[in-house]
Amino acid sequence: MEVAVGESRIETVAVHGGERRPGPDGAVVFPIYQSTVYSVPPGTAYHDLSYIRLNSTPSQAYLHDKLAALEGTEAALATASGMAAITTALHSVLRTGDHLLVGNCLYGGTHDFLTEHAADFGWDVTFIDPQRPETWAARPNTRAILVESIANPLMRVGKLREVAEFARRNGLVSLIDNTFATPVNFRPAEIGFDLVLHSATKYLNGHSDIVAGAITGRAEHVERARTTANHFGGSLDPHAGFLLARGLKTLALRVGAQNASASALAEFLAARPEIREVNYPGLASHPDHAHAAELFSGFGGMLSVRLAGGEAAARALIDALEIPYDAPSLGGVESLITRPAATSHAGMSREAREALGITDDLVRISVGIEHTEDLIADFTRALSRI
Ligand SMILES: *Cc1c(COP(=O)(O)O)cnc(C)c1O
Repeated sequence: MEVAVGESRIETVAVHGGERRPGPDGAVVFPIYQSTVYSVPPGTAYHDLSYIRLNSTPSQAYLHDKLAALEGTEAALATASGMAAITTALHSVLRTGDHLLVGNCLYGGTHDFLTEHAADFGWDVTFIDPQRPETWAARPNTRAILVESIANPLMRVGKLREVAEFARRNGLVSLIDNTFATPVNFRPAEIGFDLVLHSATKYLNGHSDIVAGAITGRAEHVERARTTANHFGGSLDPHAGFLLARGLKTLALRVGAQNASASALAEFLAARPEIREVNYPGLASHPDHAHAAELFSGFGGMLSVRLAGGEAAARALIDALEIPYDAPSLGGVESLITRPAATSHAGMSREAREALGITDDLVRISVGIEHTEDLIADFTRALSRI
């Protein structure tokens, strides 16, 4: 029996969603089934064999139910990484000759995948401005639209309701990378997105100790993605899946703390003379604040700042901080800080970077679950030294 969590709040869903009651042999924690393959009942079809790559083992079925409960979708699929989720989802939707609309500010890996490989698959890609619905146009061969709920590193929030509506009106499959917002702050399926994707490496797992991804959505879409995943092979290992399920149980607590600390830190930094600009959708000064406030129940744990003293001040700030690690990932319990021009976006030309607002003085912060006052004290000390 699976526990009913339909009317529960996200904290309760995180703990009890997808759980088996009672668990195998009465286990309160669903165990790791570290078995590649399972005995075959007569008449089993290929995609229904229990085999890790086929995403059909007990550990995987449990994790899928938990992920679907959190995003409020019919079904979910875990993948070996966030990029496996994105590439698998796109391959499950697009055929040669299809046209894809994508947001113009994308995670670097997604951007590079599309610019370097889409043409090989015969996909025609058009970058759109997710803030300006009046500029979006579908063609007869347009099949899908892909955006991010909060786009890195300026934390831009597109007109997401309009994206889902545009997709519905034009018969497109709508996909959204919800890594930064998390289902705690935003559940895109509720406003009509067909496929909700995650780098579970980040907030969903939350402990910076695995790489994983998730595809959630309506059953027919996820089933097609599962068949694609079975063929492409980017399936999640049961041990990483166990750690992900464990991390999911504290998702709401972690993200709640991260929302609160990031808001406080953003306001603190906005008032400091050493900081020229703070990019956080929770601030009234953010260009997307109004529609972000309408879409989200929290603004997340990610922010970025530009330093009044330029690149040298940005480097000095990172060096002077004691709590955050200088590392480019995000979403874990420990705060991380990075200069995107030197890490996540280092592969782009300076010109392309600056067109996206990724200047050399920009610093991105992933706020962890340390005490807010300790983080602010660390920034106070570090800013006084740059
Ligand atoms: C990290 C990230 C990805 C890629 O995830 P991996 O788990 O590293 O493959 C995709 N989208 C966003 C928004 C990310 O932050």
